[in-house]
Amino acid sequence: MMLQSTDQSPAALRLVGAGVVYPNGTRALHPTSLAFAEGAFTVLLGPSGAGKSTLLRSLNGLVPLTEGHVEVSRLGPLRDARAWREHRRATGMVFQQHQLIGRLTAFANVLTGRLGHHHALRTLLPLPTAEKRLALNALARVGLLEFALRRADQLSGGQQQRVGIARALAQQPSLVLADEPVASLDPATAERVLALLHGICRQDGLTAIVSLHQVELARRFADRIIGIGGGRVVFDGPPDALDDAAVRGIYGGTPPAPTPATRMLEDVT
Ligand code: ADP
Repeated sequence: MMLQSTDQSPAALRLVGAGVVYPNGTRALHPTSLAFAEGAFTVLLGPSGAGKSTLLRSLNGLVPLTEGHVEVSRLGPLRDARAWREHRRATGMVFQQHQLIGRLTAFANVLTGRLGHHHALRTLLPLPTAEKRLALNALARVGLLEFALRRADQLSGGQQQRVGIARALAQQPSLVLADEPVASLDPATAERVLALLHGICRQDGLTAIVSLHQVELARRFADRIIGIGGGRVVFDGPPDALDDAAVRGIYGGTPPAPTPATRMLEDVT
């Protein structure tokens, strides 16, 4: 296994001896320790069922750890509900299926990103103008200001995912966790949406951890690639260390076939 040794940035967060066994007895993550550098764009790669989603979701408590803990630079080890709440408030989550409310406008969906910043009772009242401005700014950053009042279910898949990114940004996060954010998009749209997410994270200095199944997209955008197989880290290194043998190691000898878009990317890079 290759170890990441070159990055000198302080860790934004860590998994410490973290493991997950689901209630049905499935061991999805063997005890794992990883440090995620501040401001780095880390990609998790691995075949379906490898444990990428489990690892990613354990980082914001959507999947509870059964061993070990999560540690955040400004909060220390997350040991109680209050620390987890603080951490979640600063963590923007982007999902594969967007998880937007279809009958609400793009704007209203993005505004839900602000709810974690308010007491539950406060959310019964209209949110202040400053909050709405944050939501509009987030929509502008993903290029969707003109669609602000369009129902989410009337947007294309790529536009919906951009709304999902805007919702995460409206939270003013320091950490972005994206679980297969481009898996349900066509290859060209996937590349554009990932470039957008990557550009925003870079610009804002956000720490990002993104699971993908497209090897070429990982090579193109990641600062660091972590390969997962059978609930364990099987590769950890910079993109240029991910040679064909390493890809075979991650995918157990059957790497995913390049898509037309990844072939196109190979042509231009
Ligand atoms: P990936 O994201 O790499 O596809 P997952 O983290 O979703 O992998 O899954 C890792 C393993 O855990 C798989 O064997 C999967 O079937 C299992 N798993 C995932 N979610 C659950 C769950 N809620 N209950 C039981 N097993 C689960």
